[in-house]
Amino acid sequence: MSAAISSNRKIEEIKLVAVSKTFSVDEILTVYDEGLFCFGENKAQELAAKAKELSTKKIEWHFIGHLQSNKVKYVVPVAEYIHSIDSLKIAMEIEKVSAKIGKTQKVLLEMKTSEEESKYGLTNKNEIFGILNYISKSTSLDFQGLMTIAPFVEDEKLIRNSFVSLRNLKEEIEYELKIDCKHLSMGMTSDFKIAIEEGATILRIGSAIFGDRIYNPIGFN
Ligand SMILES: *Cc1c(COP(=O)(O)O)cnc(C)c1O
Repeated sequence: MSAAISSNRKIEEIKLVAVSKTFSVDEILTVYDEGLFCFGENKAQELAAKAKELSTKKIEWHFIGHLQSNKVKYVVPVAEYIHSIDSLKIAMEIEKVSAKIGKTQKVLLEMKTSEEESKYGLTNKNEIFGILNYISKSTSLDFQGLMTIAPFVEDEKLIRNSFVSLRNLKEEIEYELKIDCKHLSMGMTSDFKIAIEEGATILRIGSAIFGDRIYNPIGFN
């Protein structure tokens, strides 16, 4: 983690989530045996199936994808963190399912911090503050921070701007709402060094750990 060292960040304050989407349970076990224990998935049923198969292992699961209301029931029972609240509606559904099973669910809000690429994420400050007020009143939801995906561009400045705006929003939330915003979930394989420099506390890294993902365009194995 030389990027952490060169930007005066402590490695202990950064959580590394190995993004295992599309990779098999055996491939996850290989990485687990090498010492990583946080894994990230972006599809509800894929997460539920893998968590079930690996239930005897001490894995901390992170849900990092777009979540639909009818899929919340697959995610809440197994995810330690849900990174991707992008509407009041989904926050309310997560609250409902968490309350039902007596769980306090750790959640982050997903922000859209760039023009292009990421389809999902919040941009409107009133909406963001409204959701935060809702979460802070709930005993079944535990607000942990903010998540974003930087634009997939060459221009380092645009990537950095995206991370800086996430950090600025964290500071606004803490100052204006007096709500503690512990985590900044930002940084992937191509941009994690910049993310560390700008204050990331959770990195979501897939291909640098597992190798390149192969998406089968035809859809059969
Ligand atoms: C796939 C994915 C990652 C990891 O991407 P890599 O480029 O493989 O590191 C991180 N965050 C989210 C939300 C993802 O969907």
